[in-house]
Amino acid sequence: MTNKTILVTGGAGYIGSHTCVELLNAGFTIVVVDNLSNSKIEALKRVERITEKTVVFYQADIRDKDALASVFNQHHFDAVIHFAGLKAVGESCQQPLAYYDNNVHGTLVLLQVMEQFNVTDLVFSSSATVYGDPHTVPIKENFPLSATNPYGKTKLHIEEILRDLSKADSFGAKKRPWNIAILRYFNPVGAHHSGLIGEDPNGVPNNLMPYIAQVAVGKLSQLSIFGNDYPTKDGTGVRDYIHVVDLAKGHLKALEALFSCHDDSRSCKAYNLGTGKGYSVLDMVNAFSRVTGLAIKYQFVDRREGDIAECYADPSLSADELSWQTDKNLDDMMRDTWSWQSNNPAGYA
Ligand code: NAD
Ligand code: UDP
Repeated sequence: MTNKTILVTGGAGYIGSHTCVELLNAGFTIVVVDNLSNSKIEALKRVERITEKTVVFYQADIRDKDALASVFNQHHFDAVIHFAGLKAVGESCQQPLAYYDNNVHGTLVLLQVMEQFNVTDLVFSSSATVYGDPHTVPIKENFPLSATNPYGKTKLHIEEILRDLSKADSFGAKKRPWNIAILRYFNPVGAHHSGLIGEDPNGVPNNLMPYIAQVAVGKLSQLSIFGNDYPTKDGTGVRDYIHVVDLAKGHLKALEALFSCHDDSRSCKAYNLGTGKGYSVLDMVNAFSRVTGLAIKYQFVDRREGDIAECYADPSLSADELSWQTDKNLDDMMRDTWSWQSNNPAGYA
């Protein structure tokens, strides 16, 4: 599967940079468009260092139609992987317009330019947040969808737009029908085993793993565990943590599935990318300490508004249709998180 060129929007970010490594290692040519609003160019330099290959990079905003069209004019793309977007739940509640504009409007502009250039293979970054508070676990792709915050709603709206686009093909559009894989990520954690790329949040992290790592490195004094009275095995919240390299590989499997699809079965399908296992907050703290030998100071505080008790995937559809499964375990996630954090205490700065 070489000689193909992939446009990666948001490729300098956390998941994007890990996916760029896997794409380059698999022989793809990649072009990254990123406005660097939540990332640094250094991430892509490190991708080049890891792979000893070149990343073509354009610093541009996906909402800038002319800039995007100019990139499409200079390259022939076989597919687009669309990561670019804002992703902080709390911030989305305070700045909903910024989230709708960046995520929904940005995606619309990208889709318009793709249509203009007849590039209709797309892998889209969605999230398990579109399942809202699931009635049961593990979560299957056909569960009801809902969202409780503007960030989640942007993912849901974009998914609906993609399904509408795909449906519109049945009205006999002239162009090649759309072929879309919507990937619903569970909780990405960890880093590339080289320790060269990883998650580099701005300010105080919102997510559990980077918070634990920053307590371990001494940047933060202690972890606040949000609630110990959930109906879970130890009272703390349960999530499906997935190693970011396993997640990145899921994008290659999704591309393979799109490329091997017959013209008459091009469609829009959603897939869960998770391990199928749920771990509690205390499981994560204990695993981190076991693997690194470092104690993590913590206190229990009230539940965080909007959090749910339990969320983990049924990943069997991805196994059956994408031939994808996770390889890495909890210890790998902890070891690689620590390798990245301890080698780069100030992130890419
Ligand atoms: P990230 O912030 O590290 O990466 C997103 C990248 O997109 C950044 O490099 C940012 O600079 C860029 N970007 C943002 N808006 C842009 C715009 N308008 N034009 C061009 N570039 C833009 O986030 P991530 O964790 O790598 O997430 C990637 C995608 O996966 C996002 O769409 C996110 O919503 C989704 N997702 C992430 C998680 C998670 O926990 N990390 C979970 C589920 C889904
Ligand atoms: N969590 C916590 N303290 C923190 C951050 C997160 O106890 O500082 C908990 C949170 O309540 C949830 C789990 O860790 O049960 C994962 O939270 P995260 O924000 O990483 O991901 P989410 O699933 O909420 O998107």
